[in-house]
Amino acid sequence: MTSADQTTPSQTVAPWITAQLHSLLTQRGHAWLLAGPSGLGQYELALALVRAWLCDQAGPAGACGVCASCHAIDVHAHADLCVLCPETVLLDMGWPLGEKAQSEIDSKKRKPSKEIRVEAMRDAVEFAQRTSARGRGKAVLVFPAERMNVFTANALLKTLEEPVGDVKFVLATDAAHLLLPTIRSRCLGHTMVWPNHDTALRWLQAQGVPAPQATVMLRASGGRPADALLMAPVSDRWRLLPKAVLRGEVAVFKDWTGAQTVDALHKLCHDLLALKSGAQPRYFEVADLPTSGSWHSLSDWAKSLAQTRRTVEHPFNPGLMQEALVSQAQLALNSKP
Ligand SMILES: [Zn+2]
Repeated sequence: MTSADQTTPSQTVAPWITAQLHSLLTQRGHAWLLAGPSGLGQYELALALVRAWLCDQAGPAGACGVCASCHAIDVHAHADLCVLCPETVLLDMGWPLGEKAQSEIDSKKRKPSKEIRVEAMRDAVEFAQRTSARGRGKAVLVFPAERMNVFTANALLKTLEEPVGDVKFVLATDAAHLLLPTIRSRCLGHTMVWPNHDTALRWLQAQGVPAPQATVMLRASGGRPADALLMAPVSDRWRLLPKAVLRGEVAVFKDWTGAQTVDALHKLCHDLLALKSGAQPRYFEVADLPTSGSWHSLSDWAKSLAQTRRTVEHPFNPGLMQEALVSQAQLALNSKP
């Protein structure tokens, strides 16, 4: 599973994103905050919104997709669009970095940042004050907005409070609670809408995921289509995962990051606890789940996973971490009911 290449070409904007775009375009606002759980398409909606704002002949349905402005966005080179993301995200999605940042990374002076750097925010503030190059206003897209630290957020806040000229903002996040309350209150809020199951399934198939895998991965992602798409390459392993963990097979997590491993184990633990309490599992099929494991051991395991989740961004050694996680899981799963 990698997060690379998440760019969605304009032609394939998902139907539930298009519906939300129409509704946002009927409302006035110079700053939007798109919030909701991950995998619902915050970034795609934010991009569709700025495309419509900057388009030479936008209609009620959004950008035209063929004008010079739309084309400039498609090739990630629009003079009036500032995309503010952590450098790791910009590199993943193929957006250019600032000249200075790029040369520092090229010369290995430092690694790409996982946060939105305050230097990038200063450039964005300066961008907001410039005159629009194409005469249709300017737009700043911030994603994921929760990756602003307090200095970056404060720099943005000033611009949001006293917007200069013709600049609009869209912030997209899957962790709105981590944003400064003052940032949230300066934006119009939009809560991302979940697609229904059939729509999500059809969309996944249109992205090239065969129907059986699409069903498994939509379930594995808890109904979040963009997450399901990212997980599609491991769909064959997903159904085997619970029993592989039961047998203590670390290899089932080969090539996964620490965060992905913890997420999968968390889902497994959730489903086993659901089964024990007479509820339906959410992420796995009943047939794929082991029936062993005591309520007590499983709840202890859940608590321990929740703790691990808080520190998993900095695994000292992902391989060792996976071994420890799987042996802990195996212990819980093999406990006598
Ligand atoms: Zn256009």
